[in-house]
Amino acid sequence: MPRSDQVENGPRGLYVHVPFCDGKCPYCAFYSTLYSPDRAARFLDALERELKSAPAFEAETVYIGGGTPTVLSERELAWLCGLVRGRVCTERVQEWTCEANPGAWNLARLAVLAEAGVTRISLGAQSFDEVVLRTLGRRHTVSDIRTAVADIRAAGFMNFGLDLIAGVPGVPRTTWHETLREAVALGAPHVSVYALTVEENARLPRDIARGTARAPCEQDQLSALALAEDTLGAAGYRRYEISNYAQPGFECRHNLACWHGERYLGFGPAAASHRGLDRWTNAPDLAAYCAALAAGKTPPRETERLTPALKRSEQIIFGLRTAEGVVMRPDERVPLRRLARLREDGLVADEAGRWFLTARGRRLADYVAVELLD
Ligand code: SF4
Repeated sequence: MPRSDQVENGPRGLYVHVPFCDGKCPYCAFYSTLYSPDRAARFLDALERELKSAPAFEAETVYIGGGTPTVLSERELAWLCGLVRGRVCTERVQEWTCEANPGAWNLARLAVLAEAGVTRISLGAQSFDEVVLRTLGRRHTVSDIRTAVADIRAAGFMNFGLDLIAGVPGVPRTTWHETLREAVALGAPHVSVYALTVEENARLPRDIARGTARAPCEQDQLSALALAEDTLGAAGYRRYEISNYAQPGFECRHNLACWHGERYLGFGPAAASHRGLDRWTNAPDLAAYCAALAAGKTPPRETERLTPALKRSEQIIFGLRTAEGVVMRPDERVPLRRLARLREDGLVADEAGRWFLTARGRRLADYVAVELLD
């Protein structure tokens, strides 16, 4: 266990990136590779070495993401959770999330997660329309989502979230509205709504160039996001971050801490870490990750040392995107001048020293970010 004098400076959050999926969605730029038992065993062995070699810390939140962590077998999930439990003080952990995809699990795997201390499931539902799911290249059906939610409840998880994708080209407004209504009807305490984006590292831009997929339309996306805000707001959800809605008390603490610039440590290929002014990201390469750790070395990674001004700009940008906003000190003259300019354009507002995005600012959040970057 970490020494008590080291704990004070330790990260708040622990993140593990599980780099496996049962296929590749064309819009996805996250690092993942196809699951196989052999790869999983090598990954877990390397992960154990990386976790053991990290500086001492006590996490308050744990997030297992990916990839699709629940493609791991029960035995592998138990191994993974055992590694995490060996590295955290479980009494201090306030929230432990695991991402999952409908269809890529069974009740026994959920039972393993519950038994290990996982408190929250984040489910990649994406849509409640079969045609949209196929367009997105998803490998699950609407019925898989309903079964997954029933399983989550049966395993005793009260805290779970559904991820949805807005602005898929060609989707009628009524279809999107129905997806939002289904998410509400299923009683998900948390809903994340992301606009479909064309990421450089994904297959989608090539499909669009070949003419086998359509590019998203910005206007349609804005209208889909506005419908999400209206529908979820009317159902009692609070938009506590630009893409995240929660019933009271079900906000994701791990993500909130990251958005507020708190420290976190990430493990696994492609996992990012942030501590003080230092930021580092493991290379998105499972083979290189396993080889380095097997040889007793640090996995290949990119490291970056932020200037205090850049770190503060990022904190302001992410803070503005949350409902709480960001508190500015009166002596922060440069960012305050920039914020005042954005206020003139109706993009941000302030109240008693706290700044946040306006409705117009939420639509133009990327522009606001560029204007604020140091
Ligand atoms: S979107 Fe999720 S399920 Fe699809 S490839 Fe990416 S990580 Fe895997």
